[in-house]
Amino acid sequence: MPDRSYLDWPFFADRHRLLADAIDRWSASHLPVDHGDVDAACRDLVARLGRDGWLLHSAVDPDAPGPLDVRTLCLIRETLARHDGLADFAFAMQGLGAGAISLFGTVEQRGWLRRTRTGAAIAAFALSEPKSGSDVANMEMTASKDGDAYVLDGEKTWISNGGIADFYVVFARTGEAPGAKGISAFIVPADLSGLSVAERLDVIAPHPLARLRFERARVPASAMIGEAGQGFRIAMAVLDVFRSTVGAAALGFARRALDEAVKRARERRLFGAPLAELQMVQGHIADMAVDVDAAALLVYRAAWTKDKGAARVTREAAMAKLFATERAQEVIDRAVQLHGGDGVRRGHIVESLYREIRALRIYEGASDVQKVVIARQMLEHDPEKWRPVFGKDHAPKTG
Ligand SMILES: Cc1cc2nc3c(=O)[nH]c(=O)nc-3n(C[C@H](O)[C@H](O)[C@H](O)COP(=O)(O)OP(=O)(O)OC[C@H]3O[C@@H](n4cnc5c(N)ncnc54)[C@H](O)[C@@H]3O)c2cc1C
Repeated sequence: MPDRSYLDWPFFADRHRLLADAIDRWSASHLPVDHGDVDAACRDLVARLGRDGWLLHSAVDPDAPGPLDVRTLCLIRETLARHDGLADFAFAMQGLGAGAISLFGTVEQRGWLRRTRTGAAIAAFALSEPKSGSDVANMEMTASKDGDAYVLDGEKTWISNGGIADFYVVFARTGEAPGAKGISAFIVPADLSGLSVAERLDVIAPHPLARLRFERARVPASAMIGEAGQGFRIAMAVLDVFRSTVGAAALGFARRALDEAVKRARERRLFGAPLAELQMVQGHIADMAVDVDAAALLVYRAAWTKDKGAARVTREAAMAKLFATERAQEVIDRAVQLHGGDGVRRGHIVESLYREIRALRIYEGASDVQKVVIARQMLEHDPEKWRPVFGKDHAPKTG
């Protein structure tokens, strides 16, 4: 029985506790799915998550837009990840892919959300390029104004849902200023003439992933999200919401690894007694449990802070993602160790967790980048600048 005591923490309202129980029940009866054909599995997962209402939480209601509830996003991702990494991926990408529209879209653009929230359309977020992953502000892809349209030229890579998405939110250089201030965001339908999948990418925990090529791909000016030159700010605002949820997914993987390790330690007999009676094994279990709880505290601190109205949670989200992903890797590694040979058998749950966790330490800002972000804030001379900005009066909203 997984530990549920954290749901009593004051970060949550009763609606979160009810939701956590409901998504856990849903996951137990629907997951894991067969990963044999990841494209088909992802399409099917998006359809089912949409049909059963879970995707309603992934983006704002286009008819009554309000803030995304980050604690809800985190609880769903944590739970799905505990049951099936691909299900977490399918849910997460609907949110991240549609994130810029949720936060900055016009009434017309929010029409896409009716489809992403029901699973009728698959979303993707296209920021990274072959020469600019961490160094986003140096992107080369261009969007040149041509009458009432923009013409996109260049490449995007590592694009999750690449190849199966119905639309991409694409960031490209419009040139209002050098660097970060000359980038804009566009909604690009996948069937746009001039857009092609240049390469499908295979990774250690497979999911739909591609390099995209844009050759004189023409979108109307109305496809731009926000204003020209705001693209970098939009991308960072989206990541500010979703970065904590990467920590939540890592937390889900770590919880599953801890549960599996405890079960194994109780059941496996060595030297005439359960493995769990060896004190060094108990040391592993204790370290894993501390890491899981500490990660949960950081993830839900960041989510709560954002939900209480903070305009930015840069430090909190960076700490949550850094700690939860790095420690999850360690927790899972210990679980593999406690399983002995079974831990590295292809298809064993801890073997798949070992592969699933790795990319989370790289995407949406590698761990090293999160450290730079945290250190910059700590080195500020004015500690007030570390504090999340809660709007005019700096006071958290109640409720
Ligand atoms: C599975 C997967 C899914 C992805 N999905 C998407 C997606 O949907 N959309 C999208 O746009 N992108 C996506 N990405 C891209 C991802 O965001 C980039 O891979 C990531 O930002 C790192 O960029 P890079 O691979 O070019 O590595 P580089 O930028 O070359 O960085 C390599 C390494 O250098 C180190 N490093 C970088 N910067 C610093 C620094 N400032 N200080 C110290 N060390 C540093 C880090 O260790 C880093 O891992 C995905 C990547 C993966 C692996």
